[in-house]
Amino acid sequence: MTAFVKAPRALVDIERGECRFPVNDAPNGRHFLFCGDVARKGKPYCTKHCRLAYRPASDQARRSVA
Ligand SMILES: [Zn+2]
Repeated sequence: MTAFVKAPRALVDIERGECRFPVNDAPNGRHFLFCGDVARKGKPYCTKHCRLAYRPASDQARRSVA
């Protein structure tokens, strides 16, 4: 855990350089909330969500086969 974590925000409140990974399951008609943490340089997501978003699909497949 980091000392300071920003509260999730709506997409309109996410600024350039902030993580836009959705952190909730928005029910119909509700707004998604986005991470809003500091994004990695050149990426739309923070370090944690980069790992989630860019995890190789083949890696998951290999694990589930075993
Ligand atoms: Zn994030």
